[in-house]
Amino acid sequence: MTPTSVIINGLHRFDIEMTPNLHIEGEKCEGGMWLSQRVIKIDSELTGDRFERVLKHEIFHAYLGVTGLTELLPPHVEEAICIMMESCSSELYYEGFE
Ligand SMILES: [Zn+2]
Repeated sequence: MTPTSVIINGLHRFDIEMTPNLHIEGEKCEGGMWLSQRVIKIDSELTGDRFERVLKHEIFHAYLGVTGLTELLPPHVEEAICIMMESCSSELYYEGFE
């Protein structure tokens, strides 16, 4: 079952939206995060392990955004952190994780 929201840093609820044919600024993407709107969008074609990894990746962009670290990090460093964190345990952040 696909989660519909996630609580970031214990305070910030982000909606998770499955989006057909996701494009960001004209480019096809698997996922994206909009900090001011508190939304994470994932391409609806993704399933299984790939879905999990892309969702985790975007969740960690959200963590870096709400904590202000996005403003301090060069974009390539933030991206490397999110790629690293894709493999972390989901128990760290899913609301109602079972
Ligand atoms: Zn990224």
